[in-house]
Amino acid sequence: MKKILNYIDGELIEPINGEYLDNFNPSTGKVYSVVPDSDHDDINKAVKAAQIAYNEWSQTSKEYRSEMLLKLANILELHTQEFIEAESKDNGKPETLAAKVDLPRALTNLRFFASAILHDSSEMHDMDGEAINYTLRQPIGVAACISAWNLPIYLLTWKIAPALATGNTVVAKPSEITPMTAYLFSKVCIEAGLPKGVLNIVHGAGKKVGDPLTSHPDVPVVSFTGGTATGQHISSITSPMFKKLSLELGGKNPNIIFDDADFEKSVSFASRAAFTNQGQICLCGSRLFIHEKIYEKFKKALIQKASKLNIGNPRSADSNLGAVVSKDHMNKILSKIKEAEKLGGKILLGGTRKILQGDLKEGYYINPTIIEGLDYKCSINQEEIFGPVVSIIPFKDEEQVITMANSTKYGLSASIFTENISKAHRVAAKIDSGVIWINTWLLRDLRIPFGGMKHSGIGREGGFNSLRFFTEPKNICIKL
Ligand code: NAP
Repeated sequence: MKKILNYIDGELIEPINGEYLDNFNPSTGKVYSVVPDSDHDDINKAVKAAQIAYNEWSQTSKEYRSEMLLKLANILELHTQEFIEAESKDNGKPETLAAKVDLPRALTNLRFFASAILHDSSEMHDMDGEAINYTLRQPIGVAACISAWNLPIYLLTWKIAPALATGNTVVAKPSEITPMTAYLFSKVCIEAGLPKGVLNIVHGAGKKVGDPLTSHPDVPVVSFTGGTATGQHISSITSPMFKKLSLELGGKNPNIIFDDADFEKSVSFASRAAFTNQGQICLCGSRLFIHEKIYEKFKKALIQKASKLNIGNPRSADSNLGAVVSKDHMNKILSKIKEAEKLGGKILLGGTRKILQGDLKEGYYINPTIIEGLDYKCSINQEEIFGPVVSIIPFKDEEQVITMANSTKYGLSASIFTENISKAHRVAAKIDSGVIWINTWLLRDLRIPFGGMKHSGIGREGGFNSLRFFTEPKNICIKL
């Protein structure tokens, strides 16, 4: 049985308490490795190592840190295939998806921030000859980087790259459900010669590892990606301690199809937005609003499209969907589908677990599910399900769809499909979401401010926003 280890002070080590948790392969439902069940002792050790490393790392040049990130990317690239297979095995996603999205993006994250740090600049404010002000941006200290299980190596690198580029050291906590690629990445760090203690990765259960990390007095900055309830809990710990906090949380994203949209394109995007990564992307379009004039035609086309999706072995090149991440998560999704039926929803497609053959028969597969007939205010249309489930809702005009789209507590992303450019801009301006796509979905430029409104988060990451987040501005005023 493969044993995952913590990465602390440059070394791969066992948890101090010697305890481990089972790690499952979602495609088979079988335990295939064990992960440290770390606790506050491991966190204390990691924070100490990061604090000591900070003294030197924060004094290194931008060029040095940039080169180190590039080196990590280059070594990670040499191990791409190993990471693709590991990500798929740990998470249940198709290998083709990990190859197309997760790994390329992890490499880009490292390379993007390696470059961004060399191109950043800070402000100067001239007081008309009386004085000048300039702003220094300095690293903060030991950063906690906590990431979710849906895009494990992608989210881990999205956080640690800007944190390290700006001169902070890091204690990262990957999700205990998908620890494997973070573990492999610690080996990449060792191979690259990353100075000890600069990055530390502590594995284990959410509260047992997360609470001692976020509440640690020597961790002044926390970047978190995960569910809204966990974000709320972390905020209740960090706010009274005046820590800098970035929260990238859940979403219940509207996908709006007007009657003048490019039909084929919008059907295709609606299916992708609902079902990619088994619907486990924070940006998935899980509420699909369709103009009443095209509702029936669109519905039929979507059912036809989604029924062609192949749910199967994540290792096969022809699988469009793999397994959802865990048994608990599968049961949660299935119970939400039952709840939808109780609320009067009609299941147009799917709605059930899919049982595969042979080794895969205990795997956590769910058929892509399309539901209609639910009130936009009901729990299914208000709460994130985070599975391959989309609720379709007709609308009659702009005003009505904007009201429905903005009716949830979330505000992460939205997509609008229309060929009328004025309407697209008008509606985009009125939707309460941090990220809005017009005639597309999940098209990302790493320079944009990324994040959510309302209960979808606090702050923005991406581009210079990430560099700002991981630095403390200090104004210096010089009397002339
Ligand atoms: P989660 O349960 O909130 O967990 C996220 C991370 O926080 C995991 O590493 C988890 O560890 C850890 N954690 C749990 N309790 C903690 C605590 N008390 N203190 C510190 N860390 C703690 O979320 P998830 O189920 O992994 O991820 C799904 C959610 O993430 C969805 O809501 C999705 O929308 C959101 N998400 C948002 C974005 C975005 O950019 N806005 C991106 C991806 C995902 P364990 O897993 O070990 O418990």
